[in-house]
Amino acid sequence: MPSSLPASFVNRLKANFPGDQIYTDPADCWSYGYDNSRLHALPSAVVFAKSHEQVEFLVQLCNHEHVPLTARGRGTGTTGATVPAPHGIVLALERMNSILEISPADRYMLVQAGVLNQEVQDAAARYGFFWPPDPSSAGFCTIGGNLAYNSAGPRAVKYGTPRENTLGLRAVTGNGKSIRTGVFTTKGVVGYDLTRLLIGSEGTLAIFTEAILKLTPLSESVQTLRAIYSDIVGATEAIARIMSQPTIPCALEFIDRSALGIIARHSSLELPREAAALLLIEVDGDRESIEHSVANIEKAAVTEQLLEIRTAHSPQERDELWRVRKTLSPALRKMAPGKINEDIVVPVTRLPELVTRLDLIARKYNLVILNFGHAGNGNIHTNILYDPADASENERAHRCLDEVFDLVIELQGTLSGEHGIGLVKKDYLAKEIDADTLTLMRGIKRQFDPNGILNPDKIFPAGPSVNRD
Ligand SMILES: Cc1cc2nc3c(=O)[nH]c(=O)nc-3n(C[C@H](O)[C@H](O)[C@H](O)COP(=O)(O)OP(=O)(O)OC[C@H]3O[C@@H](n4cnc5c(N)ncnc54)[C@H](O)[C@@H]3O)c2cc1C
Repeated sequence: MPSSLPASFVNRLKANFPGDQIYTDPADCWSYGYDNSRLHALPSAVVFAKSHEQVEFLVQLCNHEHVPLTARGRGTGTTGATVPAPHGIVLALERMNSILEISPADRYMLVQAGVLNQEVQDAAARYGFFWPPDPSSAGFCTIGGNLAYNSAGPRAVKYGTPRENTLGLRAVTGNGKSIRTGVFTTKGVVGYDLTRLLIGSEGTLAIFTEAILKLTPLSESVQTLRAIYSDIVGATEAIARIMSQPTIPCALEFIDRSALGIIARHSSLELPREAAALLLIEVDGDRESIEHSVANIEKAAVTEQLLEIRTAHSPQERDELWRVRKTLSPALRKMAPGKINEDIVVPVTRLPELVTRLDLIARKYNLVILNFGHAGNGNIHTNILYDPADASENERAHRCLDEVFDLVIELQGTLSGEHGIGLVKKDYLAKEIDADTLTLMRGIKRQFDPNGILNPDKIFPAGPSVNRD
């Protein structure tokens, strides 16, 4: 334990988190200092809470001693919000992983924050329900992390994000106060909506210990279609056409030509040689109406550039389509030594202009920009591939990113749909949020966390640097 932490503090920690509930050896702490951003900072200790009361105690102690504290689910976040302040404490929620109650008639599930998303889906499915947020990392990310980033996935286009699917929270604010927000009912308007404020706050306002998740019934029937286009702009025009008619797909994913190249190498899917973009579209509903819904989508998907549209012939083909879509992100790591991975969003009618101008920006900086993502929400994972060791390319990649963000704002978009700001995007925040609104947000942070101990240096511009591994 570094000498910067007072001995009395360390003793109280060890007394209240005995045995394997605390790591202080740097070798043990090391692996709790990173996330999927590849940034890293070594914490002074990792504490594994097992109850709300233990979280409350820890926050009170850290607040009293002004010790930085970062909540951690499973560290799969991509923007560095899980990386602790150097020499701060990591609060690991992974052992608070119980499902406390399931009430199908009331359509909610009460869970501890460290439960995995997939465990929630499996438990809900036994009652014929699901929880709509479905990040590709569902098998290894926690509900607490999902809420802190407002993480979603393909289903958000029809069913929304955690903000639309969480009824209430139990949490501990930065000054160690226990709070409950929201309701157990599907209606309620008493007091301010702190649930929606805390969701997406990246662990900077409060630590969630429990969440009341709103459940949705599973559909009787699902059909998966793939539509292939000879031109990327034609594909994005089809997205706007699909979203402007009454049948809402439960997934509308977009994959561009460069990403299709990866798919061709990593799967057995056969694609026409002229394929420049693919839409993966899923429609759900009851058995009687599904064919009608599919027909509506097929009609809307037709543009001059459509090469083929067909439903998956078999469950195996459907699974293969989703498998390749979900492995795109990890597969990209092998494409270039570095990638800047953004999740920009624009209104769907601006997607054709977005992809056209992204192509121009890529040419201007002589870089590969590869796009795929949740196009039904206008949410595109834009990946700038580059070599960080090449000084010129590194510099071009970051100027390219700056221009991409300016374009997104010009098109009335937002810098992040689901990955958050964390450390990696905080210097760009002022592009989207004006000074007065930022000041109000900083005031809210002070109200919840007067000593600034909760996940300091995240979201807001300026702060100390951390190491990239
Ligand atoms: C292969 C892969 C695929 C992915 N696919 C998607 C995707 O499709 N969609 C998507 O949105 N994201 C995706 N992600 C990103 C990531 O999985 C999500 O952001 C996820 O929600 C993070 O959960 P976690 O438990 O790992 O949280 P962590 O990374 O540990 O933490 C994330 C943030 O939440 C805070 N936090 C964690 N627990 C709590 C708590 N109890 N109280 C308060 N704050 C807390 C942390 O301080 C941090 O700010 C993907 C990541 C990977 C590696």
